[in-house]
Amino acid sequence: MAAQTLGMDRDCFEDEHEWFRETVAGFVARELMPRREEIREQRAIPRELWLQAGRQGLLGIGVPAELGGAGVRDARFNAVMQEELARAGMAYASCFGIHTDVVAPYLLDLTTDAQQQRWLPRFASGEMTTAIGMTEAGAGSDLAAIATTATPDGDDWIVNGSKTFITNGYSADLIVVAARTPTEGERRSITLLAIEAGMAGFSRGRKLDKIGQHESDTAELFFEEVRVPGENVIGEVGQGFRHMTHALATERLSAAIANLAHAVANLEITLTYAAERKAFGRPIGSFQHNRFKLAEAVTEAQVAQTYLDRCLTAQVADKLSVEDAAKAKWWSAEVQDRVIDTCVQIHGGYGYMEEYDVARAWADARVTRIWAGSNEIMKEIIGRSLGFGDPR
Ligand SMILES: Cc1cc2nc3c(=O)[nH]c(=O)nc-3n(C[C@H](O)[C@H](O)[C@H](O)COP(=O)(O)OP(=O)(O)OC[C@H]3O[C@@H](n4cnc5c(N)ncnc54)[C@H](O)[C@@H]3O)c2cc1C
Repeated sequence: MAAQTLGMDRDCFEDEHEWFRETVAGFVARELMPRREEIREQRAIPRELWLQAGRQGLLGIGVPAELGGAGVRDARFNAVMQEELARAGMAYASCFGIHTDVVAPYLLDLTTDAQQQRWLPRFASGEMTTAIGMTEAGAGSDLAAIATTATPDGDDWIVNGSKTFITNGYSADLIVVAARTPTEGERRSITLLAIEAGMAGFSRGRKLDKIGQHESDTAELFFEEVRVPGENVIGEVGQGFRHMTHALATERLSAAIANLAHAVANLEITLTYAAERKAFGRPIGSFQHNRFKLAEAVTEAQVAQTYLDRCLTAQVADKLSVEDAAKAKWWSAEVQDRVIDTCVQIHGGYGYMEEYDVARAWADARVTRIWAGSNEIMKEIIGRSLGFGDPR
C-alpha cells in the first residue's frame, strides 16, 4: 500500500517504509488508542507503552544492531513514525519524537563508545526515556541567554540552574541539558551534559498545565549543586552551540512532518463529517462556502505535503539545508492551524466539544507555531539566507 495524502500518491517511500508504517499504526491502534483517556488523565505516556514501543522496534531505529536497535539511518522510517503518531495526537508524536528524532542524534553521533554501551540498549528498549533541556525562563528563542551553569570540579561538573517547558521532563531518565561553561570572554560557551534521574540535587516541578496536548508531560527541572561526572559530557566541552545546531534540520523536518499529518488526519475526519451532517436538508459540505473551505484545506495540505516530501528526500540524501527545514517547519505549522480551524468551524458546536477529535486537535496544534524554534525565528533564518542580516 503506497502512502497517500488525501488521495494524492507520495513516491518518497519504499515498501519497507510502508511495512514499518503498518507496525506503527498497529502500535497506535492496539496500545495507545485504548488507553487514550487514561493517558490524558495521567498527563504522561505510561512506561509500559514505552517498553511496548521498544519491543516493537519503534525506539531504536538508528541504534546499532549490536546495541539493540535496527541500525538504520534512514529518515523515512522516522517520518513514518511521526506521521502515524501525529495522526493519533500531536502529543504522541512529540513525546516519542523527542526521544527518537531529537535526542537520538545526540546520543548516536556525539557520544563515546562507552556512553553508547551505557545508554543505547536501554534507549532502544524504552527502559530509559529521554528529554532535551534547552529552554529556561529567561532563555527561549535566545538560547545564548542560557543561565544554567556547569562549573568544573576535578573530573566532574557542578550544575546549577533550571529549565522549563521540557517535554518528557517529568518522567525522563536521561536529559540532555545545555549549560553555560564560561571560558574567558566567550559568551556562547555552552556544554551539553546528560543529567540522569536520581542524581543528588536534581529535582522536577509539577507537570505543567497546558491548554492542549494533555497526553504529554511537560515540566520544569531544577539543578542545585548537581555533581555530574565527566563521562556524562555529550560531545565536546564548550561546543554545545555547534552541537545543538548539528541536528536542527532533522528536528525541524520531523516537527513539520508531524504538523501536516495531524492536519490531514483531522481533515479526513471533517470530510466525512461534512458529507454526513445535514442542515437545511443537505449535507453541510455541499454549501458553497464549506465546499470552498474544504477545497482550500485539501489543496493547502497537498501542496505542503509535496514540499515536505521533497525535503524528506533531500534529508535522506543528507542534503537538507537549515533554511529549507525552517521553511517546512514554519509553513506546515501555519497550514496545520488554518486547516484545523476550518475543521472546527465545519463541525459547528460539536467542534468546540472536548469529546470531538477536532476540538482537541485545535488546542493541540496551537503550540507548533511556538516550539522547536518559533515561526518568527524560522523566518529570521530564511530571511538571513536571503542576505538580509539584522542591521544592528
Ligand atoms: C508544550 C511545549 C513543549 C516544549 N518542549 C520543549 C523541550 O522539550 N525542550 C526545550 O528545551 N524547550 C521546549 N519548549 C520550549 C520552546 O521551544 C520555547 O517556548 C520556544 O523556543 C519559545 O521560547 P519562549 O517561550 O521563551 O518565547 P520567547 O523567546 O520569549 O518569544 C516570545 C515571542 O517573541 C518572538 N520572538 C523572540 N525573538 C524574536 C526575534 N528575534 N524576532 C522576532 N520575534 C521574536 C517569538 O517568536 C515569540 O512569539 C516547549 C514549549 C512548549 C510550550
